[in-house]
Amino acid sequence: MTRFEDIKAFAFDVDGVFTDGLVLATPDGDLLRQFNSKDCYAVRTAVNNGFPCAIITGGVSQSLLHRSRSLGVEDRHLYMLSKDKEVDFLHFCRSVGLEPAQVAFVGDDIPDIPAMEAAGLGVCPADAVAEVRSAASLVSLYPGGRGCIRDLVERVLKAQGCWKFDPKDPWKGSHPDSVTKYAKMTGKNLENV
Ligand SMILES: [Mg+2]
Repeated sequence: MTRFEDIKAFAFDVDGVFTDGLVLATPDGDLLRQFNSKDCYAVRTAVNNGFPCAIITGGVSQSLLHRSRSLGVEDRHLYMLSKDKEVDFLHFCRSVGLEPAQVAFVGDDIPDIPAMEAAGLGVCPADAVAEVRSAASLVSLYPGGRGCIRDLVERVLKAQGCWKFDPKDPWKGSHPDSVTKYAKMTGKNLENV
């Protein structure tokens, strides 16, 4: 198991990790997922501090792409319709020039186990399936969609002295914190919002 001090990047499954695993199937065939804002703030903070982050999921949807972008995940690090998460995890590690031992992977179900075992830190939420809990080097106290990502990211960034914030700019300037700032950044006319 790699120490928190030595983790330089993160890769995450989506269903059961970012979410509680439930999906709402809509009549038009889309699947709706609930994300936890606390997890999302942690991922953005990791990205802002130079930790590359990847999303590796068997799912696919437009809303997942939008969510991934809002987290600060680069499109090239979003792996949807993943058939082999270990292959995609290793591809991500190579693409950011890191050894798998320097990267954490978070998963909750059987298809995640090979990637978790290839990672320096294989992490799962508290409510992962039994086989995954056995394979994990760290079982979070928090369930999927209820803070397991925040838990891991906080521990790693704190261990490396990166979990620090300027109260006046908690997004490090990367997040529009007002409608006015958003309008300025995007050039959109939001007078009628
Ligand atoms: Mg999952």
